[in-house]
Amino acid sequence: MKIILPENVKTILDTMHGAGFEAYVVGGCVRDGVLGREPQDWDITTNALPEETKKLFRRTIDTGIEHGTVTIMIGKEGYEVTTYRIDGKYEDSRHPSEVTFTKNLTEDMKRRDFTINAMAYNEEEGLIDRFGGLDDIKGKVIRCVGDPKERFAEDALRIMRAVRFSAQLDYEIEEKTKEAVKELAQNLSKISAERIQTELVKLVTSDHPEKLKTAYELGVTKVILPEFDKCMETAQNNPHHMYNVGDHIICSMENIRADKVLRLTMLMHDIAKPATITVDDEGVCHFKGHSELGVQMAHSIFRRLKFDRDTMDRACNLIRYHDDRFPATPKAVRRAMNRVGVDEFPYLLEVRYADTMAQSMYYRQEKLQLIEDTKKVYEEILAKKDCVTLKDLAVNGKDLISLGVTPGKKIGEILSAMLDDVLDNPEHNSKEYLLEPERLKKTFLMDQINEG
Ligand code: ATP
Ligand code: MG
Repeated sequence: MKIILPENVKTILDTMHGAGFEAYVVGGCVRDGVLGREPQDWDITTNALPEETKKLFRRTIDTGIEHGTVTIMIGKEGYEVTTYRIDGKYEDSRHPSEVTFTKNLTEDMKRRDFTINAMAYNEEEGLIDRFGGLDDIKGKVIRCVGDPKERFAEDALRIMRAVRFSAQLDYEIEEKTKEAVKELAQNLSKISAERIQTELVKLVTSDHPEKLKTAYELGVTKVILPEFDKCMETAQNNPHHMYNVGDHIICSMENIRADKVLRLTMLMHDIAKPATITVDDEGVCHFKGHSELGVQMAHSIFRRLKFDRDTMDRACNLIRYHDDRFPATPKAVRRAMNRVGVDEFPYLLEVRYADTMAQSMYYRQEKLQLIEDTKKVYEEILAKKDCVTLKDLAVNGKDLISLGVTPGKKIGEILSAMLDDVLDNPEHNSKEYLLEPERLKKTFLMDQINEG
């Protein structure tokens, strides 16, 4: 087994070996190296103590020195070098209360979560695989190192990591590991929102977002996203649908590219369906107001999981308009671009495509055609540079003030009225037209023109 190491990593390993220490790349980068994937970062494990490591390199940062980690800087790149360690007792399913350094590589491997993450490598000794990680890569299995129940009881985040790796790699979770997930999923309630968020985002932006269903089946979403469990329990007897709400959500995620905002939008676009369901006389389900309520629910989920504002606002905006219906006419599309936002509009088309692909075949061709047509009209509007927002309007507040309007609310009202006209009639977007005195008075109700 040969893993190609970057030059900087070789330099670090050689320097440490030259000084008489053991050193290996370890963890995720070995796993990714074996898989032929580009590792995100290269971590190094060594028997050298942090102080000993620091003496060997010019630029180092004490990243987590009490846990044995120093970062070595080469150019702009940082490499974490961690002393072999044994994690002490975990007091609260989260943090080891203490760590002990060890001289034994196997001891360090034992504390790692999964067999595929518990391998080390250097060029002299090749792959060090004491727990069958390579076999599990070949068998596509996520398996805990040691007893799964103990490992999840020590640190419940590993439960999320198990599902997340299974989604990123398309692996099955091994039976005993799965049982332990089920039994201990409740412990996830002790894990910080930020760390849950990170893992959830990795899961839904992976190549296999459908593994969210595994998370549901194992009782993980019940703890971190109970709103989704309600969706799995809500059938949709409606000609437009063939799945329950939860399966529809999953299918919609599979039909959109792996962009964080887009995948989160799909995850939550129908989250309010269980709360808005009504059944008519024919037994058909309707979900009136689910977009609006969905925005509120998504908002509170994003807050609970401590998402950043930008992600939350963008996803909520797309959720609000995901079911917005309008014809593919220039007028209607300009108005929709104005409502949704010019930059966000193409994202909305992606959302509508994914939503449609996760529905039944009923009118599917027509729905897809409408999206295609809307896209063409949108592109034409962009090419023609039609005005769709206040900032493209030929008239601004200053123009009105110089005509004698008192600064304040009235300015906004007049500009809105003008935009309203221009959205329907783009050819009206000129100063000559909009500021023509008679029109100002009659159409835009500007009653304060400075006649002098
Ligand atoms: P990623 O591709 O997401 O970076 P990774 O496997 O590198 O995946 P990291 O969080 O960077 O994950 O952790 C590096 C290594 O540290 C892991 O491969 C694993 O060996 C170990 N590790 C990380 N988190 C835990 C944990 N909660 N419990 C046990 N070992 C862990
Ligand atoms: Mg990593």
